Amino acid sequence: MNPKEYLKSKKKKYPTYTTFLRGLIQRKVRGLDSLAIALNKEAFKKIDCLECANCCTVMSPTYKKSDVKRIAKHLGMSFEQYYDKYLYKDEIGDYMNRKTPCQFLKADKKCSIYPVRPDDCRGFPHTQNKDFKLYISGTHKQNIAYCPATLHVVERLHQIIIEKGERNLTAKMATTIKPEGAGYQG
Ligand code: SF4
Ligand code: SF4
Repeated sequence: MNPKEYLKSKKKKYPTYTTFLRGLIQRKVRGLDSLAIALNKEAFKKIDCLECANCCTVMSPTYKKSDVKRIAKHLGMSFEQYYDKYLYKDEIGDYMNRKTPCQFLKADKKCSIYPVRPDDCRGFPHTQNKDFKLYISGTHKQNIAYCPATLHVVERLHQIIIEKGERNLTAKMATTIKPEGAGYQG
């Protein structure tokens, strides 16, 4: 099963995981960040982004002004030329791509502006960051439907916290608690 098929195969579980994530914000668990970072590593051992590229295909990065300036300069364009050609401002004033897939996604699923790509792309899917809870509402909750790596991390967290009832989480649990069908199996 490839990463996109994995996303589709878990569609019925999205409401369960969305509810789980909402509850996780309030839930008292220790060591969440350590375990989430270990599960993020586990996800990317199995998932090759060049086999997936779903984020570049169906989502837009959020550009900061500094991103637009850097990429425009790299392409020999002015800020305004770049904005007029590729971007719009959304309802909260963020710069977003007008079209999906991203204009810089190549046929081989590589990024044609990789060294100067937006910081949002560089940091995506943010499951590698500390403060997992801070990213739940604005990022992880949406991304379970788009990013196989995010879905993997969330499925494994659900398995360990809800199914196994663990409250004192450690990075080691990523190896000691076997997936038993949770997460991307490859
Ligand atoms: S800029 Fe590159 S990494 Fe970012 S969405 Fe476009 S193709 Fe993907
Ligand atoms: S970050 Fe997620 S959605 Fe993007 S290519 Fe990697 S696995 Fe796919």
